[in-house]
Amino acid sequence: MPDIIDLKAPETKVPTSLLSDAMGRRFEYLRLSLTDVCNFKCSYCLPDGYRKANGAPTNLNIDEIARLVRAFASLGLWKIRLTGGEPTLRREFIEIAGAVSAIPGIRRLAMTTNGYRLAERAQSYFDAGICAINISIDSLEPEKFKQITGHDRLAEVLDGIEAARAAGMTDIKINTVLMRNLNHQEIDDFLNFVATRNVSLRFIEVMRTNDNPQFFKSHHLPGTHVAKRLDDLGWKQLARKPGAGPAVEYGHDAAKGRIGIIAPYSQDFCATCNRLRVSATGKFHLCLFGDGGIDLRPLLASDSQYEELVTRIVALTQTKAPSHLLHQGDSGKTPHLASIGG
Ligand code: SAM
Ligand code: SF4
Repeated sequence: MPDIIDLKAPETKVPTSLLSDAMGRRFEYLRLSLTDVCNFKCSYCLPDGYRKANGAPTNLNIDEIARLVRAFASLGLWKIRLTGGEPTLRREFIEIAGAVSAIPGIRRLAMTTNGYRLAERAQSYFDAGICAINISIDSLEPEKFKQITGHDRLAEVLDGIEAARAAGMTDIKINTVLMRNLNHQEIDDFLNFVATRNVSLRFIEVMRTNDNPQFFKSHHLPGTHVAKRLDDLGWKQLARKPGAGPAVEYGHDAAKGRIGIIAPYSQDFCATCNRLRVSATGKFHLCLFGDGGIDLRPLLASDSQYEELVTRIVALTQTKAPSHLLHQGDSGKTPHLASIGG
């Protein structure tokens, strides 16, 4: 096991993560799901809405979450993203955010949200330590937004972007799932949206999960479709920043914002994977499209299990598969991304 970083030492620069896998990929970033519950019904994720599974375990409590994050932080992991389901539906959301952001070694706390009540709550999120936010917007047409999400809330979500900025968040990203015949006709509208706003909008290829094979077949569109349009309009691919995730980013001299493309079906997508995930109930997922996850909860019951927890995280991370098997039509055991935290 590598030496654990001394979290009490004075902070200088961001430490290099000690967490790596057999391929040499290093991990500085954890996506932590707080709940699998969601109030939206996105067509590619929970088209029939959230349904509680019988006998499902309870979510990790704040003490368990704090032990988990402390263990990851001691290995040099410095960025956490709170996600779900819809993380803001967790009653103790603010308390959890405050506890996580206060853990020594955590330099950056981010969240991903569908934007529900963001306009009124953005300030409380920022005050709890959240400095970066990804907001999901799959259409800029109110009717289409409603058709995709089941909610007539586009205006409210757009207000949320402004509220996040006014609250002090400087890293604001929009997640847009790219869907043939649903929103692919809106690509230019999204580019115009970004032209006047300092945001990064990422087109994400719709991913196949166990619950959506038919939807995937009808609506998947390769990210190259967007790349071609960007090229035609004079957008230029930006240099990859060190430690950047799998998004390929583009900029344009005349645009305030940036465009990203996340294309999990493209070649070598997994080579730059810097993501680890823990589900709301404590399952460690090394890949979105892996098996059911490995339960860390038995090691989160008491502070005295810290060393054992760290050792287990290090050993499991080493076993991360080189690549998903989506090309072979195998999307693992994930029913939908709300179940483990997309
Ligand atoms: N509920 C929050 C939201 O929608 O932003 C956070 C959780 S959601 C699972 C995280 C991100 O995953 C969202 O941007 C969503 O659009 C994306 N997502 C969900 N299912 C997907 C799929 N099958 N393919 C591609 N992206 C997906
Ligand atoms: Fe909910 Fe997010 Fe899934 Fe949409 S993508 S149903 S908002 S968890």
